[in-house]
Amino acid sequence: MYGKLVEVANGVYAYIQGRGEWFVNNIGLVVGEDYAFVVDSASSESRAREVIEKFREVTDKDFRILVNTHGHPDHVWTNHLFNGVTVAHEVARQETLMAFVEVYQSLFPDLEFSGARITPQDITFEKRMKLYADTEILISHPGVAHTKGDCYVYLPQKKVVFCGDCSSQNPAHLLP
Ligand SMILES: [Zn+2]
Repeated sequence: MYGKLVEVANGVYAYIQGRGEWFVNNIGLVVGEDYAFVVDSASSESRAREVIEKFREVTDKDFRILVNTHGHPDHVWTNHLFNGVTVAHEVARQETLMAFVEVYQSLFPDLEFSGARITPQDITFEKRMKLYADTEILISHPGVAHTKGDCYVYLPQKKVVFCGDCSSQNPAHLLP
């Protein structure tokens, strides 16, 4: 086990990956009464299995909904392992479809992408949407930021925002 799970608010967790320098994202978890909500997946099956193992230490609820903050491989390539309905901005879905595993493997031959799969999202939105996993979850597209299809995930009652990779690129666009 390389990463660590941090409870950032009551029932809200961030999995901080602990190995590698490229294709290393952090993954969010919101545990509701009936189901769990996930923010982003990982770039390989071994990374995703670590995440799921850690999540299972704090909940046995289904990962019913998974939102991708954008279409980069480290955020989408193991969506299928969470077995939930997937959500992303319409452009992020298009970018997901263009990120071929074989191309990235040839560009980054030393990285491990085993089990990676392109699984385009089930539901898309243009500007914003709200979900409710006991707590309100606002998913909002701030405009072009880190990619053309970013969103951030804001939990107002929990005072938590999952920024994906926007945070280092364009913080002025974040928060309502
Ligand atoms: Zn990215």
